[in-house]
Amino acid sequence: MTRIPRSHPRYRSLMIRERLVEGFKRGLVVPEGLIAHGRGEAFDYLLGEVSHPFALEAERATVAWLLTARRPVISVNGNYAALAAREIRGLAEATGAMVEVNLFYRTEERVKRIWRYLDEVGVPNLLPWDCEKTHIPGLESPRGITCRDGIASADFVLLAIEDGDRTEALVRAGKVVSAIDLNPFSRTAQTASITIVDEAIRATVNMERMARSMTREEALEARRSYDNLEVLKASFAAIFERLSHASKAGRPPAPSGGHEPLGSL
Ligand code: ATP
Repeated sequence: MTRIPRSHPRYRSLMIRERLVEGFKRGLVVPEGLIAHGRGEAFDYLLGEVSHPFALEAERATVAWLLTARRPVISVNGNYAALAAREIRGLAEATGAMVEVNLFYRTEERVKRIWRYLDEVGVPNLLPWDCEKTHIPGLESPRGITCRDGIASADFVLLAIEDGDRTEALVRAGKVVSAIDLNPFSRTAQTASITIVDEAIRATVNMERMARSMTREEALEARRSYDNLEVLKASFAAIFERLSHASKAGRPPAPSGGHEPLGSL
């Protein structure tokens, strides 16, 4: 692994990139995942690389669902596992949600590899990699395969860095879907019930912290009062304001003072 000095101005971003490259070398991440990461980085740059209030609001609503849904499931793909396995462990511990390895570019070999990695890290409530399978309605081919006792029977699914078709299919199947996606323009961001426009590690750290202190009453109230359209509008407005500032000043605005948890970095 390349050594990056903590003093490097882009330490965090470079460390995250290293994690993904390591994941690629271990066969957790596919080449397409590296491209998806680059797209995410670009949006994070525009957002100032902090968790904005609209992201914290969506994260709070997600935690509320994770704590109160009948069958909540955290769906983990190669990128999410490579970037945030320890943070996923914390969130699964704090909420008791089940964790399913579920892949767009699915091979049983890669499912097993990611499953073993999560297991080594100590992620609890992992659905077995050889669980009984079924298909998400409307999604043909291996990208629609899911565990019968996992996503297929879940009422709430948290996913990250996900493809739009799969998100749409889950929403069509009647599930409440929360998606961590830095690009508010993406089909995933646009179709999810709860859109977390935040970086996957930051978002997961924030949610673990929230889950450790949220009461049931607070969770039910957070579910009731949540408005995803307002959150999406606020995310576009944040990008617009930062670009508007830069278009006048010729440089990005000073760091916004948003929330920046380091997690396990
Ligand atoms: P869609 O199919 O939803 O329109 P897409 O074609 O961009 O989007 P993917 O390539 O599967 O679909 O993209 C994954 C999404 O994840 C992208 O929108 C990207 O911005 C986002 N993303 C990448 N890395 C991260 C990250 N670390 N944290 C949060 N979001 C990320």
